[in-house]
Amino acid sequence: MPIGTDIEQAAALLRQGETVAIPTETVYGLAANAFNEAAVLKIFQAKQRPSFDPLIVHVHDRAQVELLVSRLPEGTDQLMERFWPGPLTFVLPKTDRVPDLVTSGLDTVAVRMPAHPVARTLLGMLDFPLAAPSANPFGYVSPTTAQHVADQLGGKIPYILDGGPCSVGVESTIVGWGPETEQWTLYRAGGTAKELIESVIGPLQITDRGPLPVSPGMLESHYAPRKPVITGNITPLLEAHAGKRCGVISFTKHHDAAYNEVLSPAGDINEAARHLFAALRRLDASDAAVILAEVFPIEGLGSAINDRLQRASAKR
Ligand code: AMP
Ligand code: MG
Repeated sequence: MPIGTDIEQAAALLRQGETVAIPTETVYGLAANAFNEAAVLKIFQAKQRPSFDPLIVHVHDRAQVELLVSRLPEGTDQLMERFWPGPLTFVLPKTDRVPDLVTSGLDTVAVRMPAHPVARTLLGMLDFPLAAPSANPFGYVSPTTAQHVADQLGGKIPYILDGGPCSVGVESTIVGWGPETEQWTLYRAGGTAKELIESVIGPLQITDRGPLPVSPGMLESHYAPRKPVITGNITPLLEAHAGKRCGVISFTKHHDAAYNEVLSPAGDINEAARHLFAALRRLDASDAAVILAEVFPIEGLGSAINDRLQRASAKR
């Protein structure tokens, strides 16, 4: 049985150069020793992830950041102080210690200090940081429970460390320092609201284009279920799909559809983010022909929810 709560076992496997699925507050990650290229290669194999998609390196403390990052631009300290540990990833110039496989040959590395207590305990037991992308087959919806990981990668990885359902439920926000623009840029909306980041360092530049090669968190089609997803106003969408079994993802309201996934009846956008991926997975596994999703309010984590739904709806 590959699911368990034995942190010692997870640490032992990671020290041996194996991969382990680990809980974080955002989504479950598939982790390996970031300094061991052979171990990192196993992540790419298990996920069938193309090698042009760089990984996020998870750190325990600031000393590990120093091993990975060669320069901390102005504002980095304030942002780390305010949002770490937590769902904010920094893309910064890398040191020579970071293997090319981790960064897909880019001269920057993505680093994050996760807040999940199990992830923090595990990182504290290891003397290396963990490279970890989301623990799902490339391009599919990210996992927010240990069972989600087992459903898809169960036979391919030696251990899934169960830390309960993820409390944030969408991936980290990614910011980077653009060397050309000398400005902080938002690369991916996520678990830390843009407004909060801007309250610390001022306006973020927005880009829908990553540093080259294009970073797949920004691929048009990503985070996608197998079923078609259509976003918009639910009532006209239901009329347009009359006669079909529809699955509806909404914020607060129940609709007249075969399946309803109301993400937060109380209207709490953080709760909605927490429930999004499990809802997408349930509808994907149902006999609904199509998934219809509302556009969420753009405050706070609403931007991240809309971003994921839009990519889930992009044509492959
Ligand atoms: P995930 O699969 O959620 O762990 O996301 C990893 C994502 O982080 C990648 O798909 C990229 O979008 C982004 N990323 C990681 N490293 C870099 C980097 N060096 N430059 C730009 N984006 C990066
Ligand atoms: Mg991913």
